[in-house]
Amino acid sequence: MKNDLTCGVVRDLLPSYVEGLTSPESNTAVERHLSECPDCAQLRTALAGAPKQAAPEDAKEVDYLKKVKRRGWRRVAAAVAVTVLLFTAGVAAKLFVIGTPIQTQGMSWVISTDVPGQLDIRVYSIWSGTACRQWETEQEPEGIVRVTCRQVLPSPLSNSGDYRAVLNTEGVNAVYLGDQLIWQGGIEISPQIDRIYQAQTPYVGDAPAVGRVLNALRFDTCGSYTL
Ligand SMILES: [Zn+2]
Repeated sequence: MKNDLTCGVVRDLLPSYVEGLTSPESNTAVERHLSECPDCAQLRTALAGAPKQAAPEDAKEVDYLKKVKRRGWRRVAAAVAVTVLLFTAGVAAKLFVIGTPIQTQGMSWVISTDVPGQLDIRVYSIWSGTACRQWETEQEPEGIVRVTCRQVLPSPLSNSGDYRAVLNTEGVNAVYLGDQLIWQGGIEISPQIDRIYQAQTPYVGDAPAVGRVLNALRFDTCGSYTL
């Protein structure tokens, strides 16, 4: 068989030839052409060298994967940091800004009607670790006045624990501090009375509970005693 392969046919065959996929007959024909055609020979050399070039590409790919992984870790770290920040901000907001509804246990109050036509309400925080924000005096239906605040930890954001409101007595029947009735129809439910009320126990045999009642009554001012 004469060497009748054209350059086009050889170039089609070269990739397979380089990988050793062509038949011995084709190999012979291709090799004969290559020995006479410098252009195709050059292409063969280039194709044969191709696998060597693949290595750096693989390395690049690995580098890229590493970068992606590094970026992934950075993203995770950023997400964790943001989560921690948000959580801290949330806790701080809860403790210093949002707080909890007012609890009468930590408060003391005085309501006076000494000035005719005026209801003078004063509320104090008796715990130094507590401050109040957003003091409000709301007039509710049926002559109910409700004094509220949010109890928070002291910070520059909070007002002091003290509050004063002077109201027109007209139409005021009862005053609440939070959910606690503290004044009704001219009778002040003092913090002492409230403590006695809170200490109530239906069971006289409950010594600690009875002790709390006696303590609230300040019975100790009458001398030492035992249950
Ligand atoms: Zn050729």
